[in-house]
Amino acid sequence: LHYQFVLRARRDDDRRVLDRLAARAYAVITDLYPTAGVRERTERFGERVNCRVLAVDSVCTVPSGTFTKPEFAARTIRPKIAKLLDQVLEPVAEGMPRVPVSESLRASLRDTVAAGGGLTVLPLATMTDDDIARVVAACEIDHLVGAVAQPGGSVAAQARFAQFLQHGLTHYDTQRNEAGNGEGTSRLSPYLHYGHIASARVIREARAAREAVGASAADLEAFVQQVTTWRELSYNWCVRTRHFDQLSALPDWVQRTMAEHVNDPRPQRYDLETLEEARTGDRLWNAAQHELVTQGIIHNYPRMLWGKTILLWTESYEQARTWMFHLNDKYALDGRDPNSVGGIMWCLGLWDRPWGNKPVWGGLRPMVTHRAKMKFDVEGYIARVRGSRLL
Ligand SMILES: Cc1cc2nc3c(=O)[nH]c(=O)nc-3n(C[C@H](O)[C@H](O)[C@H](O)COP(=O)(O)OP(=O)(O)OC[C@H]3O[C@@H](n4cnc5c(N)ncnc54)[C@H](O)[C@@H]3O)c2cc1C
Repeated sequence: LHYQFVLRARRDDDRRVLDRLAARAYAVITDLYPTAGVRERTERFGERVNCRVLAVDSVCTVPSGTFTKPEFAARTIRPKIAKLLDQVLEPVAEGMPRVPVSESLRASLRDTVAAGGGLTVLPLATMTDDDIARVVAACEIDHLVGAVAQPGGSVAAQARFAQFLQHGLTHYDTQRNEAGNGEGTSRLSPYLHYGHIASARVIREARAAREAVGASAADLEAFVQQVTTWRELSYNWCVRTRHFDQLSALPDWVQRTMAEHVNDPRPQRYDLETLEEARTGDRLWNAAQHELVTQGIIHNYPRMLWGKTILLWTESYEQARTWMFHLNDKYALDGRDPNSVGGIMWCLGLWDRPWGNKPVWGGLRPMVTHRAKMKFDVEGYIARVRGSRLL
C-alpha cells in the first residue's frame, strides 16, 4: 500500500496530477459526494480519463442510492432507514489488504506526480507541527481564517468519540441542546465530513458501549437519529434535488410566503463585515459567530439561532441565504457538507411546515435569541465561547 500527500499550494500549480496517475491506472476510486463541487469535478474527470472511475456511495450509513426519490421530511426517511439499519451495520473486515509496493514503483509514482512541476510531495509521517505550520503559511489561501485547536485525522476522531461515549452519550437525550458546557454533543461533524470516522462505525460502537457507560435506550436512540435521519435526509436532498442550495428549490409554500414578505422592513440591518467580525448588538449571536471563527464549529442550538437571526438582519431572503453559506462554509470545519445545505435551507423553511404569519418571517418558523435562555444556559455558553481565541 502506498500513500502520498501531494499539496497544490498555489493556484497556478500543476492541476493534472490525477490525470497522469489515471493514465497509468486500471481504476480510480473516489467518494460519491454531492456538494463542494466534488460531484461535478468527478464527472468531468471521468469523461476526461481513459480508466474506470468509481464513485462509492458510502458517505451515509444506508447507501443513498437506496432512496431513489427525494424524501420530504424526517418522518418519511426515518422508517426506511430503521428497516435497513441492522443489515448495513454488519461490520466489514478491518484492515486494508496488504499489497507490497516495490521501491521502483514508488519512485516511478513519485516521478509521475512530479512531472507537472510545482507540486509539493510532503513526507507527512516525519513532519512536525512546526513544519506543517510553515508549509501552510506559504500556501495561497485566505490566512485571515485562523487555525483552530482541534486536531484532525482518524486518531483524533476516535479519541473525541471515546470521550463522548464516556461523558456525553449518557445525557444525550436531555442535554444535547445544552450549549453552555459544550460536552452534550459529540462534536464529530468535522470528522464525519472529512471521512476521518464512518457513521456506521459511530453507531455500532455507541450501541456496543451503551450499557457499560450507563446511557439509556433513549440517549442512544436520540444520538442514532441525528447521525442517521438528519444527516441522511440532508444527503438525500443534495443528491436528489436540482439547485439544492438555491431558494428556487424550496417548497411552494415557502416561495409564496417569501414573495409576500420580501419587502417587509427588517428590524435591523448589518453589513457582512459586521457579521463576520461578530460586532452586532446581539451578544448571543456574536458568541455563536465567535465560536464559528475560533473553533470552526457552532453548537447545533445556537447554530439554528445564528442562521434564523441572519434572516432578520439582511435585505432579502436571497441575501440571508448567500451570507449564511458564505460564513458557514468559510469558517466551519464541517462546512461545504450536505448538512451545511440541510441546516441552512432548514432555516429557510426546508422540511418544515408553515408557522403562522409574522412580519419578515412570513410562515417560516421564527426563532429569536432573546428567548434562548429558556432552552440553554446562555451566559454559560457566552463565557465558554469567549474564552476561545484563534491560534
Ligand atoms: C444554519 C445551520 C448550518 C449547519 N451547518 C452544518 C455544516 O456545515 N456541517 C454539518 O455537519 N452540520 C451542519 N449543521 C447541522 C448541525 O448543526 C451539526 O451537524 C451539529 O451541530 C454537529 O455537532 P455534533 O457533531 O456535536 O452533533 P451531534 O449532536 O453529536 O450529532 C452527531 C452527528 O449527527 C449529525 N447531525 C446532528 N445534528 C444534525 C442536523 N441538524 N442535521 C444534519 N445532521 C446532523 C452530524 O453528522 C453530527 O456530527 C447546520 C445546522 C444549521 C442550523
